[in-house]
Amino acid sequence: MLGLKCKILHVDLSSEKTWTEILGEDICDKFLGGKSLGYYLVYNSILPGTDPFDPENVIVFSSGLLNAVAPGASKVSVVSKSPLTGLIHDSHAGDFFGPLLRKTGYNALVIKGKAEKPVYLWINNDKVEIRRADHLWGLKTSETTDKIRSETSLSASVAAIGPAGERFVRFAHIAFDVYRAAGRGGLGAVMGSKNLKAVAVYGSNPVLVKDPDRLKLLRDYWFKHFSESHRYNEIRNYGTTNALLFAAQASMSPSYNFKKPWIPVEQAARLSGDAVKEKEIEAPWFIHGKSCPIKCARYVRAKYKGIEFEVKPEYENLGMLGAATGTFELDAVLYFNLVADELGVDTISAGNTIGWFLELVEEGLVNPEDYGVEAKGFGDAEAILRLLEDIAYRRGLGAILAEGVKRASRILGIGKEKAVHVKGLEAPAWDPRGRRTYGLSYATADVGASHLRGWPRPHQPPTEGPAKELVPSLIKSRDRDALLDTLGICRFVSYPMDAIQDFIEALTGTRPDEEYLLNAPRRAELLARIYAVKAGMIPGRDDTIPPRWMEPIPEGPLKGVKAFLDWNDFKEALKEYYKLRNWDPETGLPTPKAAEELDLPELISDIEILQSMLLTK
Ligand code: SF4
Repeated sequence: MLGLKCKILHVDLSSEKTWTEILGEDICDKFLGGKSLGYYLVYNSILPGTDPFDPENVIVFSSGLLNAVAPGASKVSVVSKSPLTGLIHDSHAGDFFGPLLRKTGYNALVIKGKAEKPVYLWINNDKVEIRRADHLWGLKTSETTDKIRSETSLSASVAAIGPAGERFVRFAHIAFDVYRAAGRGGLGAVMGSKNLKAVAVYGSNPVLVKDPDRLKLLRDYWFKHFSESHRYNEIRNYGTTNALLFAAQASMSPSYNFKKPWIPVEQAARLSGDAVKEKEIEAPWFIHGKSCPIKCARYVRAKYKGIEFEVKPEYENLGMLGAATGTFELDAVLYFNLVADELGVDTISAGNTIGWFLELVEEGLVNPEDYGVEAKGFGDAEAILRLLEDIAYRRGLGAILAEGVKRASRILGIGKEKAVHVKGLEAPAWDPRGRRTYGLSYATADVGASHLRGWPRPHQPPTEGPAKELVPSLIKSRDRDALLDTLGICRFVSYPMDAIQDFIEALTGTRPDEEYLLNAPRRAELLARIYAVKAGMIPGRDDTIPPRWMEPIPEGPLKGVKAFLDWNDFKEALKEYYKLRNWDPETGLPTPKAAEELDLPELISDIEILQSMLLTK
């Protein structure tokens, strides 16, 4: 319908070959870009039984359809098979990488194979080089970025891994231009397994647009709107750093490994908004960057143990490295944030896994000295810092924790019921016990426990009624969020649907209707589910939440409340989700009809085989 074509750059690091493929509108119109196109490329490239660290795994950098077209459409999707979950996983990041990739003329980059020695990729418009990176191996993310910029172009955007990615830490992240991260799912470890230290990109070709005059009008209007609207004052002022105050009062914080979702205001305030703001410095990012009309990112200068440093905190970092580990000393938590960023580990998974271990220590279930570690329990900043470094370098106990909380609990043979994850992905800083049906978002998300797969509305405590009633709104929110990830639009830049349609009309000359657009991410979700079942997931067993979220909240205004009224309430909601998705209510597998309605008839025979397999399990 839109007549899109997708130019894909393939790189095989084993053979050092690169080539270009053009996907026609039969594919590109269906998947559009970003997340959805990435899912298509991974689904069709990797057999479900492939180990994520096998050179056959691919890692895709997929630009959003509106990257370099609409203000705030700045996110690139990184998609691969996750070393944490074995599922197709997407993580979104960056301010420039997506738009610059788009301006090279490529829509997506697909990397497979494994280089013999460390390398980095340098994509400068249509020129592609695989360069040696022996001199970069072992460097932290900021050092790597600076060196690569000095060797390529100061205007290049750089996606780099740190020592954690080199050592296959299952939750290693990819740092984009130092301060932004495709944090989740261990995609940095996939890069490490390929001996790929970084990807640098620079593009200067304008995106071909059908109606440039209209696009300019749209761009000017919406840039001004988002820059000036008072609706964004809070996010402009605090970024996400004020969220712990809110989360704690709503009984949604991850404090003490999710043992205490409610904590007093004064305690939460120590890691929130104004306390962070006192340390704020001018954002270096915005001196060069004009792509975002909201500019939520906050930068701070802090001092810990005599070391002065600058870092860009977000709520997830403060919540997971701070509250979840029981640490409420702001300078210490900011320093943990810096260390995690520089060594290249996901702050969410790291905080979650360390918080879990500290709970075991606190409750006397493990003796840390047996693992060569001194740790007193929650809030032991010295121990947390040491564990962060040991994880990144896979030293001692760190090598076990580097496997993620699910595997670590199995390896140690203890604390499985205290490990807060879904399908192996560690939970982020939003405990679902404060909000009705939020737990279902975690249970059914394509990647596991992600806070970015839609939230149901209205926002109410779980005691307000059956969780099932809010399933339609979860689906609506999920589809919209996944569409934004497909178009490359930042979640905070909240365009109305008709504005999105206006931009696509100016870009392509055709105005798509809303259903047409939403079908792209629905296709991605369908592919993800079929892939997951082929890879061994059993929906009836794995679409669930960790036991911790069915423990009653111990204190605060929602004392006694759980994520669902009871397990039956959860099961009813889950069945409703399957039903509304057109999935089989018993097996949780998409029906042939779902594939037909999404114009993916080629999947029907696979679905039929999988369905009969699941029914016999
Ligand atoms: S609103 Fe914040 S996260 Fe979104 S593009 Fe702007 S600076 Fe980046």
